[in-house]
Amino acid sequence: MPHPISLYNTATRSIEAFTPARNIVTMYHCGPTVYNTAHIGNLRAYVFADVLRRTIEEAGYQVKQVINITDVGHLVGDGDDGEDKMTSALKREGLPLSKDAMTALGRRYTDLFFSDLKKLNILPAHVHPRASDHIAEDTALVETLLANGHAYTTNDGIYFDTSTFPDYANLARLDLTGMRQGERVDVGDKRHGADFALWKFDDTLGYESTLGKGFPGWHVECSAMIKAHLGHPIDIHTGGVDHIPVHHTNEIAQSVCAYGAPFVSTWMHSAHMTVDGAKMSKSLGNTYTLQDLAEHGVTPLGFRYWLLTASYRTQINFTWEAVKGAQEAYNKLRQKLAHININDSTLHARVAVGLTGAFEDLNTAEMIAQIHSFVHGGSIPQSVHDEIRRADAILGLDLCSYTPPQVEATDEVNALLQLRQRARDNKDFAESDRLRDLIREHGFIVKDTKDGQVLET
Ligand code: AMP
Ligand code: ZN
Repeated sequence: MPHPISLYNTATRSIEAFTPARNIVTMYHCGPTVYNTAHIGNLRAYVFADVLRRTIEEAGYQVKQVINITDVGHLVGDGDDGEDKMTSALKREGLPLSKDAMTALGRRYTDLFFSDLKKLNILPAHVHPRASDHIAEDTALVETLLANGHAYTTNDGIYFDTSTFPDYANLARLDLTGMRQGERVDVGDKRHGADFALWKFDDTLGYESTLGKGFPGWHVECSAMIKAHLGHPIDIHTGGVDHIPVHHTNEIAQSVCAYGAPFVSTWMHSAHMTVDGAKMSKSLGNTYTLQDLAEHGVTPLGFRYWLLTASYRTQINFTWEAVKGAQEAYNKLRQKLAHININDSTLHARVAVGLTGAFEDLNTAEMIAQIHSFVHGGSIPQSVHDEIRRADAILGLDLCSYTPPQVEATDEVNALLQLRQRARDNKDFAESDRLRDLIREHGFIVKDTKDGQVLET
């Protein structure tokens, strides 16, 4: 029996017991638009997705996880406004406006993204589909929506008619009164303000299709890739909170109207990273990358530790002081665990179960706080160490696999270590303590760990 898990579902705004529909948990996470180097705010969304997957696996389920790569069709605005992000990146980098150049640009930023994921100990998803490889699936989805009366064609594209889907406002709890009448937005050729593009005509860079030469809408791509790789419905869908009112709302409308309800059982969203209270974003020029962190002595896992000291649902404010402080705490914790003494007490075994805080809506902050409190005294029972290992498998922080650099001992100190080991084997602790003091006089501190005696300076 898998361990029970509770998760916060954005759709119901409440924490619910998680029960997958089948024996393989299906999870989809909106991936990056590969037009730029990911900033550390973007990366928060994938650390969250990774902890979620590890938690579900640790609970005893099998998982199929998909993180897509958006290499086509995402406009600068989340709605239908602005230029295509990939096209604007070609211009920014002085590259030709061609399909080949766009593919090459996408591949370059995709590789950078994968390299960031690896550094952050994020497990590769089972599938990383590229939007550009799914144009046929997008076309089929739009054809279905046209055929069943949920879509219409205008001069510049094919749009979803939101008035045909009564549940449109549900996920984001939108107030559609103004949007529907077109009072607050310029609807152009659209029937209603909330209607969104399924396909945009484009004679230059567009794809040949039965719909007319053009691009799929960003939302269509996710709906189509989910159906292609995970089927319908799925258990969990995640993204950043900014996806709730437009991107995910539109995915629901398309998938439900094309394939039927329900589409997703549990919707989960990670909160933003801010800088001085404003969202970290390229347009505000307040972004940092893993490379920037490295230049300040903050490692990817030190950064991951910082993220996990807060709930994924809480906004976190980036400051150098905060990330550097987290790096220091992370280093100390790894040091302590590397030198921890494993005793044979059974006293704390029950308390250690608290480390499964991950199963309560990914309470990583609680898990980290508990690990700190357990290692505080320098000695823990085997059962607690096992629980910490289990927690580490969820946190993905490599806390237990860290081996500190070896200290080179002199021949004399090595001889004393051997004598001390013999004394310990004979349970002659008075002699063992005397030899410890002698070793200290030679400038070394000896610690007793699960792997035997370890020297520090
Ligand atoms: P994009 O590449 O713009 O589609 O964004 C990739 C992911 O990063 C999405 O899930 C966004 O919600 C998320 N994201 C963007 N900016 C931030 C931020 N400042 N903090 C946290 N997540 C963000
Ligand atoms: Zn998506």
